[in-house]
Amino acid sequence: MSHPRCELLAPAGNLEKLKIAIHYGADAVYLGGKQFSLRAQAANFNKDELQEAVNFAHQHAARIFVTVNIFAHNRDFKGLADYLKFLAEIRVDGLIISDPGILSLARKIVPQLKIHLSTQANVTNGESASFWEQQGVSRINLARELSLAEIREIRKKISAKIEVFVHGALCISYSGRCMLSLYLTGRDANKGLCAHPCRYSYRLEEAKRPGQFFPVEEDERGTHIFNSKDLCLINRLPELITAGVDSIKIEGRMKGIYYAAGIVRIYRAALDHIYRCLEKNPVEPVVMGETFMEEIVKLGSRGYTENFIDGSPDEDDMLYSGPRVDQTYVPALLIRKKGPDTLFDIRHKIKQGDRLEYMAQGLANLDFEIKTIYDLNGVRLDQAQPNTLIRLETLPEIDWQEHGLVRKVQH
Ligand code: SF4
Repeated sequence: MSHPRCELLAPAGNLEKLKIAIHYGADAVYLGGKQFSLRAQAANFNKDELQEAVNFAHQHAARIFVTVNIFAHNRDFKGLADYLKFLAEIRVDGLIISDPGILSLARKIVPQLKIHLSTQANVTNGESASFWEQQGVSRINLARELSLAEIREIRKKISAKIEVFVHGALCISYSGRCMLSLYLTGRDANKGLCAHPCRYSYRLEEAKRPGQFFPVEEDERGTHIFNSKDLCLINRLPELITAGVDSIKIEGRMKGIYYAAGIVRIYRAALDHIYRCLEKNPVEPVVMGETFMEEIVKLGSRGYTENFIDGSPDEDDMLYSGPRVDQTYVPALLIRKKGPDTLFDIRHKIKQGDRLEYMAQGLANLDFEIKTIYDLNGVRLDQAQPNTLIRLETLPEIDWQEHGLVRKVQH
C-alpha cells in the first residue's frame, strides 16, 4: 500500500499518562499546556513538563501535538504569541487549534509549525474542509457527527490529512458547542471545564406545581435524557482506513492510567492486526473478531455506540439506565524502572499471594502470583499500600517493561 499507515493518536493528561500511552503503542499524543487549552481540569503540562514530553516522545519516535483550542476572547491573546514561540522552540510536532484568530496568529508567528484543526471547529462537509485547508491547516479533525460515506466524500475534496475520533466520551450537542454546563454549574465547556450535566438525571416540573415531579422516568433509576453512550469504532477501523483516514484519535485526557494503557494497547493491536491482514491480502475485507471488543469491555464503560458512522444515532445509542457500566479491573502496579531489580509503583493495595495480570504490549495478559514483596531496603512485607515503591518476586517470573501496567480484578 502506498498510503502511509494510519496514526494512532492518544490523549495525555499528564506526563505519566503520556509515557504509558507511548509505551503501549501510540504513534502520537496530544496534550495541553497550562493555558490556552480545553480540558482545563486535566492536569496539563507546565513548560518544563512540555519540554520533557517532547524529549520523551521524540526519543521513542512518537509525535507531540499541543492543544491551543480554546475559543479565545480578546483578553485570551495576552501571552499567546510567546507561548506559541516557546512551543516552536521545544519542537512540538503540531498545534491543535479551533479559533481562526489563534490560527492566523500561529501562521504569522510560528509558520514552521503544522496546524491541526480541532474537532471544536465542527467540520462536517468537504467545502468547509477545503476552506480550512486553504487557511494553511495541514490536518483536520472532523466533526464526530459524520457518517462513513461523508468522511469518504470529504477525503476526495482535500489533500490535508484527516483525523477521526474513534473512541471516548461523546457530547450530546455538537462536540463542545454547548452551554449546558455553564448555565447549570457555572463551568464553561468551551474553556474545558465541562461538568458533564448532560449525564445527570433529569425530572420534569411544571411551574405552578413546585416540588411535584412528573414521571418521565425511563425506569426506576431515573431519566438520563441527554446521556449518550461512549463512542467505539474498533470494529469499523478497516473501513475508516480504506476511506483514507490518516489518524485515529482517542478521547480522554481526563481519564486514569488504566484507561490510558488499556485503550491504547487495544487500538494498537487492532491497527497492527488490520495491516497484517492487508499485507497478506489487500483486497479481502479485514475481519476484526471478538478479542478487541472483549478487552475494551474490561476497561469499564458507559455502554458503546458507533454514533453517526451509519447515519443518525437513535435511542439505542443513549444510556437511559444510569451513568456507568462497572469496571472489572483496577490498576495495581505501574512499572517504574526495569532492571535486575524492577521497581513497581503501587496503585492499589496488594498482598502476598495475590493473583494479578500484567498487561503486556500487544494483547497478551500475563497472569502471575505475588510470591514476595520487598520494600526499598529489602525488607519483606506481607502487603503494600498505594503510592509506595516496592520490588517483587513473582510466579512465574516476568519480563517487565518500563511504563507497563499490572491490573487486578476488582472485588
Ligand atoms: S454538557 Fe455534555 S454535551 Fe455539553 S459540553 Fe459537556 S459533555 Fe458535551
